[in-house]
Amino acid sequence: MLDVIVIGAGPAGVVAALRAADLGANTALITRDEFGGMAANDGPVPVRTLAHAARLIREARQLGLYGIAVSDPVLEYNRLLTRVREVVTDVRAHSVFRGQIDSLGVAVHERAGAARFAGPHSIETDSGLRLQAEKIIICTGGVSRRLTVPGFELTATHSDAWALTSVPSSILVIGGGATGVQVASIFNAFGSQVQLFQSGPRILPTEDEDVSAAVAAAFRESGIAVREDFGDIEAFEKTPTGRRMIFSKDGVRSSAEAALAVVAVGWIANTAGMNLAAAGVEIDHRGFVRVDAYLRTSAKNIFAAGDITGRLMLVPQAIQDGFAAATNAVRGVTMTLGDQVSPIGSFTDPEYAQVGMTEAKARETRDVLTAVVRFNSTTRTIIDGRTAGLCKLIVDRETYRILGCHVVGERAVEIIQVAAIAIAAGMRVDDLAQVPFSFPTYTGILGRVAASAARQLNLKLTWQAHQVEMENEVSYKKP
Ligand SMILES: Cc1cc2nc3c(=O)[nH]c(=O)nc-3n(C[C@H](O)[C@H](O)[C@H](O)COP(=O)(O)OP(=O)(O)OC[C@H]3O[C@@H](n4cnc5c(N)ncnc54)[C@H](O)[C@@H]3O)c2cc1C
Repeated sequence: MLDVIVIGAGPAGVVAALRAADLGANTALITRDEFGGMAANDGPVPVRTLAHAARLIREARQLGLYGIAVSDPVLEYNRLLTRVREVVTDVRAHSVFRGQIDSLGVAVHERAGAARFAGPHSIETDSGLRLQAEKIIICTGGVSRRLTVPGFELTATHSDAWALTSVPSSILVIGGGATGVQVASIFNAFGSQVQLFQSGPRILPTEDEDVSAAVAAAFRESGIAVREDFGDIEAFEKTPTGRRMIFSKDGVRSSAEAALAVVAVGWIANTAGMNLAAAGVEIDHRGFVRVDAYLRTSAKNIFAAGDITGRLMLVPQAIQDGFAAATNAVRGVTMTLGDQVSPIGSFTDPEYAQVGMTEAKARETRDVLTAVVRFNSTTRTIIDGRTAGLCKLIVDRETYRILGCHVVGERAVEIIQVAAIAIAAGMRVDDLAQVPFSFPTYTGILGRVAASAARQLNLKLTWQAHQVEMENEVSYKKP
C-alpha cells in the first residue's frame, strides 16, 4: 500500500504530490489527461496566449496614432492556434514541477483514464490501474456547468471555442462571469460580432459595481452587445447558419442568432463518476467536495484541494491548497490557510482586477471612504493613448487601512499586484501615498489614489505624496 495517492495533475494535484513526496511519503499521482491540468492545457495558458494576440491587434491599430503607417492587421486563426499549441508545450516543458516530481520519485500515471473510488483506500481507473494508499488527495478540478434546456447540446463551452478552426462571424456568449467576458472580449478583438447575455443585472457580478459598469460600458463602446437581465433561456435551436437561443422575459419571447453559441454559466466540481460515496466523501449543497479548515473531507483519510472544493477557483489558491492538503495528509492536521490576500484579474479589453473587499462588502461592516482616480488624468496613460479606466481605493475611516482596490484599464492586473502587497503588509493609506512610484508608470496611479484618500481623511502627507498627486494637475482639486 502507498502512503499517498493524489488524483488530478493540475496545480493543486502537482503541488500536493510534490509536497507529500518531499515529506517522505511514498506517493503516486494519477491523472486522466495531461500533466498540468486546466491551468496549462485549457485555462490560463491558452487563454492568455489568445488574449495576447487580441492585445497585439489593438496595439497594431494604434500605430497610426503614433505616425507609423501599416495596413490593418489580419488574423490568421490557424497560425494563432499553432502558436497556442507551441506555448502550451513550451510552458509544460519548462514546468519546474515536473522535474522535481520525477526527482522525488513520485509515480506519475499520466493519461490513466478517469479515476474512481473502490473504497476509502482504493482507487481504480478506466485504464485498469488499481492502487491503494493510506491517504488520498482529490484534486480533480471543475467543469463547465450544463443547463437543462432543450438543445443545450448545440452549444459550445469555452474549450470548444478555443478549438475552432476559424473565427466565427458572430457569437452568442451566455454568461457574463469571468470566463464569458474573456470569450466575448477575445472574439470581439478577432472580428466576431459578439452578443453577451447576462441573467443578472450586471456582468461580472462579483466585482465592485464600478468595475462592472466600466467594463460593460467599454465593451459596448467596442461593439459588443451587452444584454443584462435578459430573462430565462427556453431552448437552443439549429439554424441554417448557426444557432438560435430562444428566451423569455416577463412573458415576452425573444430570440437571438449567431454562428456559434458559447455557454459559460458557472464552474462546478468535477466529481461525476468518481464514486465518492464508496469512500464516504460528502459534497456540499453546490456539489463541491466538503472540506474543513485543514482541507480534510468527511472521510478522515481523504483530503481535497483546488477547484474541487469550490473556494477561490484560481491557480495560486490551488497551489496553496495542494501544499496544505499534502502537509496535513502526511504530518497530521496542523496547517490551515486562513484569510488570504488574493489579487484577481482578467486580461480582457479593458483589463480589470481586484484585491480585498468591494465597496458594498466593506460597507456592510465598516465606515469606509472611497477614492477614485481616472486613467485619463495620469501621464502614462495619456502618453500611451490608453486613457479609459479607473483605479478605486476603499479605506477604513477608523484605522486608515486599505480594505480593497479595484482597477479597470490597461495593465490593471499588474497594478493590482502592488495594491495586494500594500494590503498584505497592512499598510495605511497615507503610507502608500508616500511611496515615490516611478514616473510615468501605470502603477503610479496607486500613489495618486492613495494621496486622494489620505487628503480626504485629513492625513498629513510629505512633499513626495503631494508631488505624486500633482504629477498631472488635470484631476487635482484642493480639498
Ligand atoms: C478559461 C479559463 C481561464 C482561467 N484563467 C485563469 C487565470 O488567468 N488565472 C488563474 O489563476 N486561474 C485561471 N483559471 C482557473 C484555473 O485554471 C483553475 O483554478 C486551476 O486550474 C485549478 O487547479 P486544480 O488543480 O484544482 O484543477 P485543474 O487544473 O482543473 O486540474 C484537474 C486535473 O484533474 C484531472 N482529472 C479530472 N477528473 C479526473 C478523474 N476522474 N480521474 C483522474 N484525473 C482527473 C484532470 O485531467 C486535471 O489534470 C481559468 C480557468 C478557465 C476555465
